[in-house]
Amino acid sequence: MTVRTQVQGELIISVFLEGGQEWSASVKEGDAEDEERRVKELVRLGIHRVFQACYNLAPSPWGTLTGVRPTKIVHSLLDSGSSWHQIRKTLLVNYDLSPKKADLLVDVAKRQRAFFHSDPNNPIGIYIGIPFCPTRCSYCSFAAYPLTSHGHLLKGFLSALRSEIRAVGALLRELNRKVESIYLGGGTPTTITGSNLGELLSLIEKELFTADTKEYTVEAGRPETLSLETLGMLKNAGVQRISINPQTMHDQTLESVGRQHTTDDVRRAYSWARQVGIPIINMDIILGLPGEGLGHVEHTLREIGLLEPDNLTVHSLSVKRASRLKKALDEVYIAHAEGEAMVNLARDSALGWGMTPYYLYRQRHILGGLENIGYARPETASIYNVQMMEERQTIIALGGGGMTKLVSSDLSLVRHANPKCPATYSQHITDGLTEKMNQIRTHILE
Ligand code: SF4
Repeated sequence: MTVRTQVQGELIISVFLEGGQEWSASVKEGDAEDEERRVKELVRLGIHRVFQACYNLAPSPWGTLTGVRPTKIVHSLLDSGSSWHQIRKTLLVNYDLSPKKADLLVDVAKRQRAFFHSDPNNPIGIYIGIPFCPTRCSYCSFAAYPLTSHGHLLKGFLSALRSEIRAVGALLRELNRKVESIYLGGGTPTTITGSNLGELLSLIEKELFTADTKEYTVEAGRPETLSLETLGMLKNAGVQRISINPQTMHDQTLESVGRQHTTDDVRRAYSWARQVGIPIINMDIILGLPGEGLGHVEHTLREIGLLEPDNLTVHSLSVKRASRLKKALDEVYIAHAEGEAMVNLARDSALGWGMTPYYLYRQRHILGGLENIGYARPETASIYNVQMMEERQTIIALGGGGMTKLVSSDLSLVRHANPKCPATYSQHITDGLTEKMNQIRTHILE
């Protein structure tokens, strides 16, 4: 139960658990909006504390923060005039964060400020979703249709995507917008090869590149989709950043989660990417994969360290409803302490390689209540990752599963989702392309 009482210019917030614990704190009466925000924070904090005491729960490093994008709170406090010192204190006191997590948030947010622009609609970012993969990983909840079973949809999908790229290109020229970054994700875009890939890359270059485009990334996560020819095409098309994602450097785990490649495939693809001269290579790993403990993570990090990637993205396993792994939750249970030890090991490795954390996010059902963190060596942090996570820039998303985010100057957001299924997407483009372009045009001109 929560009680709110008013005493001499102060609001007292009290939280009681029947027959159990009690907690209270006060907030000075001030402007209504700020007061309401503080009251909500205190109620959350009170409930958190009372439950912790009543059920003897270990303190959670993320305190009362449950959102996907915890850095947004830091940016919003900074925008409203708080100093870095005050922000750290707010995170510790109002949100009950551990000092380590508070320092991490402040550190990441400081680094991100350099990426922000005064106008959320110029420059903008582009995302293109290619919803195909060689096979579906057991933990996957993305738009990823195996080419083996859904290959018959590829032709129609590519045709619809070409129409969408041309429409967005024409709109950007009409509105005279700069494109800061282009990101091909999915799925695994490099599931598409040969002339299909070549034509797609040429069209992107012709329609979407502007003189100011600083970053071009392609998710090439599944190493078995890569060849010297494909990597050469990416390089020649101006791609500066790719992801080759081992997830783990244990063949047995890779097989058990339904990935069709080996650790040797990872090493081979990586050396080809270096050979053709792709400037920045990111590698993703997942902590807490079924059957893996701290020793496995240590081995994975040692092997990745030998390759010397420019970025490392560390995911803590999140078992979502849409994944096959959800059905076998017991297999992946990992105690918080072990999850945290894995996260710390990954952090120490990344810092030891000269990287720093530059974006982070959390998910529901994430391993041990932890987080996902992107690390980068100097000058290699991804612009797109920061903009997509902090939602301070309009991102126009094309292709399957793409989520367009139209950001206004007050940082409010309007979303427009493209369907994930390639067949539904093709139909959506036939029926709704003009309406989508009108929505973007209206937003940018308002
Ligand atoms: S490679 Fe990524 S997108 Fe493709 S199935 Fe695996 S997790 Fe999903």
